Amino acid sequence: MKEINTLEFDTEVLQAGKVILDFYSTECPPCEALASKFEDLASLYGKDVKFLKIYRQQNRELAEKLGVKSSPSLLFFDEGREVAGRLSGGIKRSDIIRNLDSMLPEKRVAELKTLIKPTVSEYDVIILGAGPGGLTAGLYLCQSKINTVLIDIALPGGHVSTTHEVSNYPGFIEPQAGYLLSHNMSEQTKLCGTVYKVAVDITKVDLEKKEVVIDEYETVRAKKIIIATGTTPNLTGAPGEKELKGKGISYCATCDAKYFDDKEVVVIGGGNSAIEESEYITRFASKLTIVHQFDRFTANKQAQDKVFNNPKISILFENEPRAFTRDGDKIITEIENLKNNQRQKVVSDGVFIFIGMKPNIELFKDKLNLDNWGYIKTDEDMRTSIPGVYAVGDVTSKKYRQITTAVADGTIAAMAIAKEMD
Ligand SMILES: Cc1cc2nc3c(=O)[nH]c(=O)nc-3n(C[C@H](O)[C@H](O)[C@H](O)COP(=O)(O)OP(=O)(O)OC[C@H]3O[C@@H](n4cnc5c(N)ncnc54)[C@H](O)[C@@H]3O)c2cc1C
Repeated sequence: MKEINTLEFDTEVLQAGKVILDFYSTECPPCEALASKFEDLASLYGKDVKFLKIYRQQNRELAEKLGVKSSPSLLFFDEGREVAGRLSGGIKRSDIIRNLDSMLPEKRVAELKTLIKPTVSEYDVIILGAGPGGLTAGLYLCQSKINTVLIDIALPGGHVSTTHEVSNYPGFIEPQAGYLLSHNMSEQTKLCGTVYKVAVDITKVDLEKKEVVIDEYETVRAKKIIIATGTTPNLTGAPGEKELKGKGISYCATCDAKYFDDKEVVVIGGGNSAIEESEYITRFASKLTIVHQFDRFTANKQAQDKVFNNPKISILFENEPRAFTRDGDKIITEIENLKNNQRQKVVSDGVFIFIGMKPNIELFKDKLNLDNWGYIKTDEDMRTSIPGVYAVGDVTSKKYRQITTAVADGTIAAMAIAKEMD
């Protein structure tokens, strides 16, 4: 692996054979998350592909010329031509391997696979999920000198990192940008010494043995596991939704509202998320139509008042989406009036869906006591039905799901574990 600069780009990249080039920055958590994967893959693929790094801030002109807009960004070249598609953000090992493999003959790929050596690492506690619940548990465990590893399929932060503003987390007079609040939580836990393995693929979780296999080759073992995997947005299930996900249908206002400047959007839902996010989306959109199945909202009164008084927002109560289709640049939402079963088409530039969440328990759902909605049941110390396995935050069975309640659960589980391991 070698560090290059702009002057060396021609000879090291364009006039070379197969190259992977990492545009990185300092003070960049996703770059830190990538570094060990890049290094590890360099030792595996290094004879076939040249692994290069370039510091984006000091080679800004080159980055701009190549259209590199974020760090880290991985670019792949073969004989001076860019190939295989760029990777950026929370880059997984499997994504890099897929691109590298596409540059090599099949026989060589098969040979390289035989060289991957399984590894095993041991900790006191594994935390699955680095949202507010997992990060707080990590902080408390670390401060109790308990050797802890945080494992997440994405970058740390959980839902908070994509919430545009948080105004109800104590300790801040002004509303905080969600990404900043989650960044600070994550840095505090990392600085304490908790080990991070993030943006990984989780292949297997064995709660009884307290074993997690990541990226197919790395087994992580511990004495205890904390499940802090949170929730994922529900889908309406209407035809066309899956196909248009990310192509006109979104589940995250913070991520996507900015793309609807002066455009018209539809929001499906009527709870707190739908109402609060609708208000936010109208900072950009010129017109917003809320489609809600009931004859009134379930969101809190304050949020409802804002929506009722917003001239950009109109509301279709007692309607449900039946299909989503695309017509050129437009998304057509076919809705059904639940009173008279009449259908109509609402034309917009995009659709946001906020109809609740489901717990992320796919990898271990058969093993735990769950409530009727699939959330993990715990006792007051956040213990689950399996000895040594705890669950915290939104994934647990509870009435109120907030950052403060997730943080509280994380605290309780960590303190209970610290006491047990004393
Ligand atoms: C749009 C929106 C706005 C919100 N606004 C507010 C607000 O203003 N104030 C407030 O208090 N609350 C708010 N909330 C609720 C708040 O974000 C959650 O209650 C809180 O984030 C829950 O934290 P958590 O750690 O339990 O889970 P999450 O934040 O969901 O984090 C779970 C983590 O687990 C990871 N994960 C998922 N599956 C796996 C797996 N199999 N293995 C490993 N890791 C996995 C995820 O990648 C994620 O990082 C909002 C929620 C949403 C959706």
